[in-house]
Amino acid sequence: MKKYLISNQGHWYKANLHSHSTVSDGELTPEQMKELYQTHGYSVIAFTDHNRFVTHNELSDERFLALNGVEDSADETGKSRFRNKCCDICFIAGDPDRTLHPMQYPDKVKGDGQYAAWKAEYSPFGVNGMIQAGRDNGFFVTHNHPCWSLEEYRDYMGYRDMHAMEIFNWSSAVDGYNEYNPDIYDDQLRAGKRLFVIATDDNHNRRPGTCHWDSFGGWTMIKAKSLAYRDVTDALFHGDFYASRGPVINALWLDTEDGSVHIECEKAVKVVLTRGGRRLRAVYAAEEGVEYLTEIKFSVDPNDIYFRVTVFDENGMTADTNAYFVDTLGIDFTNENLFRE
Ligand SMILES: [Zn+2]
Repeated sequence: MKKYLISNQGHWYKANLHSHSTVSDGELTPEQMKELYQTHGYSVIAFTDHNRFVTHNELSDERFLALNGVEDSADETGKSRFRNKCCDICFIAGDPDRTLHPMQYPDKVKGDGQYAAWKAEYSPFGVNGMIQAGRDNGFFVTHNHPCWSLEEYRDYMGYRDMHAMEIFNWSSAVDGYNEYNPDIYDDQLRAGKRLFVIATDDNHNRRPGTCHWDSFGGWTMIKAKSLAYRDVTDALFHGDFYASRGPVINALWLDTEDGSVHIECEKAVKVVLTRGGRRLRAVYAAEEGVEYLTEIKFSVDPNDIYFRVTVFDENGMTADTNAYFVDTLGIDFTNENLFRE
């Protein structure tokens, strides 16, 4: 029997889960962003302007969903502006009726009618307070661009209960940062932290027509029952998605009879299974004698602790699945019919 690790119910929706509009320092209005992204096949944008939580429910229709969000940060003090570390977090509201910033003071209204939000100090303690405020108020909480933020192992290892981290941030990458972060993901997984990965644009759209155009480089494919707000945020909370900057993953499932994991994908020239230990597996289309890999089968072992899959296309672009912890899969490792590679 097939047990789907990414739901097989509903439809795939292409999403940009980190963006900036004219509500903060982006160049495009929310309406312009909707129009532009729809012409590139997107159905979902999370509007995550800096510091201000503004709802955009009026933009949603049967073909488009605006998720309401905000990006806020904890910033290191006492250093110059270009040397201070920071932790930037996107909060995406699980519910369309939410109107207040997750870190608001309930009684402090600023001049523009917005509630004032408290500011966390840059430390694991401060960041964990932000994460907790997001979770307590029903937000999906993501850790953004750790490379751009100059964050180190000792910083991010102290964060607890992020829902997801950016394995890729396109805006940071076009500015020259090494913002593909599989190592930072594995650091945390090997320590037993269970979090998902997303890829985002973090677009500001400041330099149209140049190599610094920061739209359409990283996206998240969400499998949801429908494009209704809560169906899509339920899929986020359940991990029914993968991160991509090119390749397509159609299905990821476990064969409950023999414990093997199957990934179905398109245009793949290489597929890598990353495990909690050193015993990785890389499959190449060239070695298999095919132009593209379309279905690959892996074995899992209790010693793996977790696994995740990366699909590479011929341009070297990647699609990354979330990590799956072996103890949650219900595989009977005493079964003598277990698939072995
Ligand atoms: Zn941002």
